[in-house]
Amino acid sequence: MTKVYNFSAGPAVLPKEVIKKAQDELTSFKGSQMSVMEISHRSSLYTEMFQKAEEDLRYLMEIPDDYDILFQQGGATLQFTTVPLNLANNYRRIGYIDTGHWSQRAYQEAELLHKFDVDVVASSKDSNYTELVHQVELENKNYDYVHLTTNNTIEGTMYRDLPSGLAGQTIVADMSSNILGQKYNVDDFGLIYAGAQKNIGIAGLTVVIVKRDLIGKVSNLPSMLDYKKQADKQSALNTPPVFAIYMAGLVFEWLKEQDGVAAMQALNEEKSQLLYEYLDNSTLFSSPVKREDRSLTNIPFVTGNKQLDEKFIAEATSAGLLNLKGHRLVGGMRASLYNAFELEGVKALVDFMKEFELKNKG
Ligand code: PLP
Repeated sequence: MTKVYNFSAGPAVLPKEVIKKAQDELTSFKGSQMSVMEISHRSSLYTEMFQKAEEDLRYLMEIPDDYDILFQQGGATLQFTTVPLNLANNYRRIGYIDTGHWSQRAYQEAELLHKFDVDVVASSKDSNYTELVHQVELENKNYDYVHLTTNNTIEGTMYRDLPSGLAGQTIVADMSSNILGQKYNVDDFGLIYAGAQKNIGIAGLTVVIVKRDLIGKVSNLPSMLDYKKQADKQSALNTPPVFAIYMAGLVFEWLKEQDGVAAMQALNEEKSQLLYEYLDNSTLFSSPVKREDRSLTNIPFVTGNKQLDEKFIAEATSAGLLNLKGHRLVGGMRASLYNAFELEGVKALVDFMKEFELKNKG
């Protein structure tokens, strides 16, 4: 049977060891003779599992004690709404750094609330989002916070360092596609959020890391959208997504065994470097993204010929290299190399591309 590599942008590959562990204890969680999917979220079995997951995430990201960790539902998309409702409580004004599709979705959802001034304070639209903005000039200083996307999943750009010009501003980051894969200093942010289905685990869980003194300032929010109420109830205001939290906990344990985020970042650098180096030397394929802004996790590439792109995707799929089709907004191809994606998969892709190049150079 052909070995399969899954280059999906999300839901993404999970570590093999995690799937195996989940399989092993699927019918009896911790000897309880109940599946983790069947246990009560009011039981000590759950509470211990939840607390361990939270503790491990705090350790992995070095999250300071004055930050709450919330395990929410509704995906990163619901956070586009929830963050403004909770944090834009003083000036009612939010600045957005526009670096592509997901950062646009963030401010579009905030606009739908019709409660806040939503300003795009910087944008890399002119480059068609093939690069990032590194300097922001805030004409109006009265922002409750400035929002940015650390890794642009579709366009393949990633912030290594935060843009300049934001000193003193609360920064909110959508880290959905590179949380735990690139080291950031949590202290630099007022709030970080991420959907789980890339580097954390499976869909159904969204992690929110928020500085405690920023929340609890708005009354009359719907309870499910109120960070303070969620924090006070350890994210179990209603029935939490127990299985998704369990899977995240297994991934956090696995990450600790791999020596944590710095080790993951080094591996992600090695994996992405292999592909970028080939792309930069190829006469057929190329990366549209400016070198210093390139993502470690999502790597778009093109041949410049639509038919050839399609031929490549079809042949790669037959060879077991799956989900390489680029996002419909940008076309071409995209290889997503999240934490659990193995180095040997990148080698297999590069070997396949070399062969394809030889046969199709024209
Ligand atoms: N933000 C980023 C950077 C993403 O990559 C995605 C999904 O791919 C989202 C937000 C939306 O996430 P969700 O499907 O969890 O709402």
